[in-house]
Amino acid sequence: MTVRTRVAPSPTGDPHVGTAYIALFNLCFARAHGGQFLLRIEDTDQQRSTAASEQAILDSLRWLGLDWDEGPDVGGPHGPYRQSERGDIYRQHAEQLLAAGHAFRCYRTPEELEALREALKEKGEQRALKPADLELPADEVARREAAGAPSVVRMRVPETGRCVVDDLLRGPVELDWSLTDAQILLKSDGMPTYHLANVVDDHLMQITHVIRGEEWLNSAPKHKLLYEYFGWDMPVLCHMPLLRNPDKSKLSKRKNPTSINFYRDKGFLPRALVNYLGRMGWSMPDEREKFSLAEMQAQFDIQRVSLGGPVFDLEKLSWLNGLWLRELDDEAFLDTLQQWLFNRDHALKVIPHIKTRVETLSQVVDKAGFCFGDAPAITAASFQHDKLDVEDMKVWLQYLLWSLEALRQWDRDALFAEAKALADGEGVKVKDFLFPVFVAIAGTPASFSVVDSMAVIGPDLSRARLRHAIEVLGGVSKKQTKKLEKAWAALREGEADQGTDDQ
Ligand code: GLU
Repeated sequence: MTVRTRVAPSPTGDPHVGTAYIALFNLCFARAHGGQFLLRIEDTDQQRSTAASEQAILDSLRWLGLDWDEGPDVGGPHGPYRQSERGDIYRQHAEQLLAAGHAFRCYRTPEELEALREALKEKGEQRALKPADLELPADEVARREAAGAPSVVRMRVPETGRCVVDDLLRGPVELDWSLTDAQILLKSDGMPTYHLANVVDDHLMQITHVIRGEEWLNSAPKHKLLYEYFGWDMPVLCHMPLLRNPDKSKLSKRKNPTSINFYRDKGFLPRALVNYLGRMGWSMPDEREKFSLAEMQAQFDIQRVSLGGPVFDLEKLSWLNGLWLRELDDEAFLDTLQQWLFNRDHALKVIPHIKTRVETLSQVVDKAGFCFGDAPAITAASFQHDKLDVEDMKVWLQYLLWSLEALRQWDRDALFAEAKALADGEGVKVKDFLFPVFVAIAGTPASFSVVDSMAVIGPDLSRARLRHAIEVLGGVSKKQTKKLEKAWAALREGEADQGTDDQ
């Protein structure tokens, strides 16, 4: 048997370090067994999936050197490798389950589902909705069908008992069937859900080992049952521990940059990031901290994964990056620096903004340094202003950060529009609103247009600097966050209303 593993990201946002982490372990496992590693794009959520996000995932994994043998860009014998192009395959398989009685068409409306859930709650029953709750009498099904009512395909699941799932790291794990719902397999628009597409693809793509994040462990009973219904062997399952913030909560962009692009733009070496991800819950037999991808592959043993939640700590990663940087000789260091942001493309984005502001070339570094590296260190005193209140500034920075986290199109006009809308909503001049943003991004209000600056340095560094500035100003407590989130949402709604009125 040839070992075949895969990473199966959903292209719904920035390329996440967690995706790289899972890709790395799948790659090492495949290589350690002389097998193959493939990349599959799980874009069944058509609302949230974007081509830009898919491209960013491919680019960032390539940047890290986590190369795949088969995938949407390189092809392979089991394609297509993008789930949105495999709709017929899933529909056929859903039909097969329907015909065998392992699945049923469900015509329940959202209101009915809500009422069924409420009824369970009232009865104090802590369990999922089961086929018996959902199925309607045959004449009612016929009536709804004839009226063209929308329907989904759901799987049949046991009502009670325990399901035992074998996990490569945990051994047998028992899960309660009562908590497993009659999972939707095909949505009313004919698109599959993750569960159906994932199982069908893993089988057809001959995946032998599924190495994925711990958050999928609860889905394993459904998957196991689907394999049984289809009469297929199930791949070996292995759920990796979740990456955590230093405070042990699940790694989140609120507390830690999670986009791989942040690490690239901040000047981390791909080999250092891969090395660090390799240290997440795993160690070399000799416990050395610094190792290359090739060394990791050569020594790889999945049983060395420990399940305690590994902490992704920026300081530790920076230390490791320093070790890798020092290893470069001067020529290689310079080449690396040039490839990073000291390159023609990037410099050409900066030059139009500083050309008109300097009289000698020697002033360029002072005026544009923040476009090539970190902004000068800021303190609360950097935000000193005659008229503006520090607390207000902090709130504006937070609002802007949230708006920019949701922003898809990153260019100066879009950035300005976001700032202007928030400033209007707050009833302040956009110039005042942008004052703390200047300090956050460029370290000083005396710089060229801050929306141009953000366009140049890109989303990841911009957001990180806004986040840092909020911390410098004392941070936002959990309680305050809740309040501000509501106020921000109301501001955005105001913007939307405004938009309709204008039309
Ligand atoms: N699309 C899922 C994800 O984004 C894949 C989970 C799995 O590997 O089964 O994590």
